[in-house]
Amino acid sequence: MKIGTPKEVFEGERRVAMTPDSALQLQKLGYECAIETGAGEAAGFSDEAYKAAGVEVLPTAAQLFKAVDIVAKVREPNETEAKRLTKGQTLISFFWPAQNKELMELCQSKGASVIAMDMVPRISRAQKMDALSSMANIAGYRAVIEAGNNFGRFFTGQVTAAGKVPPAKVLIVGAGVAGLAAIGTATSLGAITLAFDVRPEVAEQIESMGAEFVYLDFEEKAQDGAATGGYAAPSSPEFREAQLKKFRELAPEVDIVITTALIPGRDAPVLWTKDMVEMMKPGSVVVDLAAEKGGNCEITEKDQRVVSDNGVVVIGYTDFPSRMAAQASTLYSTNIRHMMTDLTPEKNGQTNHNMEDDVIRGATITHEGEITFPPPPPKVK
Ligand code: NAD
Repeated sequence: MKIGTPKEVFEGERRVAMTPDSALQLQKLGYECAIETGAGEAAGFSDEAYKAAGVEVLPTAAQLFKAVDIVAKVREPNETEAKRLTKGQTLISFFWPAQNKELMELCQSKGASVIAMDMVPRISRAQKMDALSSMANIAGYRAVIEAGNNFGRFFTGQVTAAGKVPPAKVLIVGAGVAGLAAIGTATSLGAITLAFDVRPEVAEQIESMGAEFVYLDFEEKAQDGAATGGYAAPSSPEFREAQLKKFRELAPEVDIVITTALIPGRDAPVLWTKDMVEMMKPGSVVVDLAAEKGGNCEITEKDQRVVSDNGVVVIGYTDFPSRMAAQASTLYSTNIRHMMTDLTPEKNGQTNHNMEDDVIRGATITHEGEITFPPPPPKVK
């Protein structure tokens, strides 16, 4: 069978789902590989590099879709791409089926099988295919780098002949995958790092990374992340008030705030309010990784860098992984390659779409003309 990757069509998307290295691995599984010309260019992978790795380079997306059995992409297909899918073909990409019902139905009507990378169950066995985590890890790292680029001071404290420099104080709100990556980056740059999450079980992880967990003076039973599959649930109004009170205390002293707080299926909670921005020192920076979901900061504007009246920079970019396209493509294409490994147990270049396999079943949203989303809950932890 042949697996192919078209050039991404979403404006500004620089990542690519197959790299020359991942193509070599896919060939070891018995597949032939193809790309659309220029597919890897924005991520730093030339057509020549693909050709040297034995990849066929096709001149148009239409030709690519026609030539392959499996289409591997980063973003969900647009309508034109979905209409190109044919019966028996498999598409592997991010898809967000709950938000893209019509698109899912279009793929189903074409008879294509769709594996949504955002639906890979978050169980230990599937970590190697967990593209949400590999991209969140990059977003967390890049958020700190972006903050540093907008912050006119050092992260680390220094004693120099020209004077003493205090370390920067960084607050990370939300310590999931992106938040923990941001903590790791900020501490390694020498900042004093504080972090908060509604799930108290992450306190240990935060502290093991050299950051300080921000405790609230609050009596109510804390959120039990285990009961919600590791994700957060909305907080009670009283908890939220206690959280905002604590943040108001911290606002005048922190230099950089990185917010990553998300609640599945909902708009992001507003946690860094306008008055908190007004309390921050001029030159401080807020990077809001929840901008796609409305933002954790009240003054965030999606995909924009805004400066408040008191000189605080608020960044609401939603394309952090794409801003590190080479790294993101390397990790994402590895996630895809691992998915292909599980789909090819015989390593004979033939997919075995085994719907008895928890991971494959969980990620499959259309198969053999049927919608298979949402999946049943996974059996394995
Ligand atoms: P996410 O992107 O859904 O949310 C980011 C963080 O924001 C979470 O830690 C959440 O608790 C926090 N949050 C929500 N509301 C908040 C509020 N009001 N104030 C402060 N923080 C708030 O999270 P994620 O990175 O996708 O991770 C979700 C869970 O999945 C975690 O428990 C993580 O450890 C787990 N996970 C497991 C695996 C695996 O086992 N394969 C892989 C990745 C993630």
